[in-house]
Parts: sequence; C-alpha cells; structure tokens
Amino acid sequence: MIESKPRLASAKEVAAELRRRSAFVMVSHVKPDGDTLGAGLALGLALKRLGKRVCYFQQDGVPRNLRFLPDADLVSRELPPDLPADTLYVFCDMSDRSRAGEYLPAVDRENVLDIDHHLGNALFGKLNFVLESECSTGSAVMFLLRELGVPIDDRIATCILVTVMTDTGGFMHSNTTPEALELAAELMRRGADKEEITEEIFLRKRVVATKLLGRIIDAMRFEHGGRYCYSYVDDAMLAQTGADGEDIEDVVNTLLGQDGVDVAALFKAIEGEIRVSLRSSGKLNVQAAARRLGGGGHFRASGLTCRGSLSEAFSAVEAALVAEGL
Ligand code: AMP
Ligand code: MN
Ligand code: MN
Repeated sequence: MIESKPRLASAKEVAAELRRRSAFVMVSHVKPDGDTLGAGLALGLALKRLGKRVCYFQQDGVPRNLRFLPDADLVSRELPPDLPADTLYVFCDMSDRSRAGEYLPAVDRENVLDIDHHLGNALFGKLNFVLESECSTGSAVMFLLRELGVPIDDRIATCILVTVMTDTGGFMHSNTTPEALELAAELMRRGADKEEITEEIFLRKRVVATKLLGRIIDAMRFEHGGRYCYSYVDDAMLAQTGADGEDIEDVVNTLLGQDGVDVAALFKAIEGEIRVSLRSSGKLNVQAAARRLGGGGHFRASGLTCRGSLSEAFSAVEAALVAEGL
C-alpha cells in the first residue's frame, strides 16, 4: 500500500473532525510553556462547551507561573482507563510527537491531530494544522474556535492571550505582528485578564530565581568577537540558590540582550540531561543550528537536548552555530 503524503489540513477540515469525535486528550510538550498549555486548555474549554469529553496530558506538570490558567488543575500525567477507542489526541505546539515525552501511551496516527506553528513540523498527525506564520499555536487555535463557532468567553480568551504574550515575549519579539496585536486587543475585549498574565508570568520572580540569575550572569562567556554569549546552570547552582528549572525559563533572553550579541545559548545541565536554549537577534537561523543536533524550533528561538559532558555540549553547539554562519 502506498502511504499518502501528509499535507496541511484546513480549519474547516479540522473543525469537522473535532465535531465528529466525542473524546479528546490535549497533549502538551515536555517542560511546558504558556503556548503549549494555553493552546490546549483553550481548545479543551471550547470542546467542553460543545459537550465533549476532554482530558489534558502533560508529562512534567504545570509550572508555578501557569497554575492560574483555567483548567490547569485538571492537567495530569495519568489518563483515565475508559477513554473510547476513537479518542482524538491533540498535540499542541510541537514539531515532532516525541516532544510529548515518553509517558504518553502509543497513539495511532489516525487519532492524532497536530496543531503547531514551528518550522519543519514533521506532519505526524492524521490532520496537520500547521501555520508557520502565526505568532503562537494558540493563535492558530483561534481559527478553529471561529470555525467551530464556539463563544470565546473570558476563560478561553485568557488562555489564548497567554499563548500570544508568552511566545512574543510580552510583545517584544519579531513575531509581534499587527495581527498578533489585533488578536490581543480582541481577547482583552472578550475578558482576557492581561493584568494577571503580566503579573504571574512576566513581573513576579522568586527571590531565589533572581539569585540564580546572578550566578548565571557571573558565568557568562563571550566568543566570536562578542557576538556569541553563552552560560550554563547545573544541579549544584540550583542546590546552592534553592531555585529550580522553572526559574530559568526566560534567562536566555538576558544573554541575548547584552550589547553586541547576535546569538545566545543557555546550557541547562539538570538531572542528568543537558537542555540547550538558543536565541538569535535575527542574523542567524538557530532553528537550523538546533536541527543539526536533533532539536528544533523557530528562526530566532530554538532548543535541543545533548548527551555527554557540559564541555562537549559547548563544543557541539558552537560547531553547529558556526556551520550556520556564526
Ligand atoms: P526553549 O528554549 O525551551 O524556550 O525553546 C525554544 C523553542 O525551541 C520552542 O519553540 C521549543 O518548542 C523549541 N524546542 C526546544 N527544545 C526542543 C527540542 N529538544 N526539540 C525540538 N524543538 C525544541
Ligand atoms: Mn512551546
Ligand atoms: Mn509556540
């Protein structure tokens, strides 16, 4: 039998599939951010309004700063045993299904919907709703909500606004298009709590997080004439400051913000693996650099996971960046 080539689905096709199914599992990626969770929660809330059964799967749990999201208390690593055979698994904000982690039970491709905005999405679903030009996966979900005709209440609006604000870095990144700002305005009119989002996600920091930031800044190194800045955090630094992995979510942007820096990397050597966050000012494609090492993401923001020692990871990432023009 010839495998049919995956192609992109329209909002209409996806809405028809959503109406056909009775049960859903919204799947978010490991070490979740506001986009993967907000997109799944918004669509889950909408589907519940249509009388559907909805569960939320997340391997690593909801980070402290996203626990204010509606339905966040229902997000779990466990799935109920009695889900019907035609349950649709909706993967949000991941270019590849392995980003959901290893705890998710095997799912037939027939029962997978892939909603995303990453470059180079593997189109791993029965239906793939991938809009690379959208600022967030949540803003892609908005097209589905409009197609479904579900009223966008304040709870749904808050979830979508979280996706827009987190993936645009609080309206600072280059994906802050006029369309993104218009969407944010519409969501605020529908009752999205912009104040709470700003406070919970962007302004409030734990004191231990600020202390850890100091340590990471002390460890900064500059290479390639000051255009490449990198630093690291390891288990010892976390133990010494009392901080944890959730406290370093946006630190890589501080590295990128240093005068003269075009590319920044933060190496997170935590609990036996090294996760690397890459950021670019726009001159160099860090998605292509991450892909060389098995990761992915966007032109200006990407990530990957390394094996081996920290110094091996430093060398591998620098080589990948050099190969992309550093
Ligand atoms: P982060 O640095 O974790 O904020 O991730 C930046 C971007 O890269 C996000 O769009 C992530 O979804 C993506 N990303 C991070 N790690 C990986 C990975 N191991 N594989 C593929 N994409 C990743
Ligand atoms: Mn994400
Ligand atoms: Mn995203």
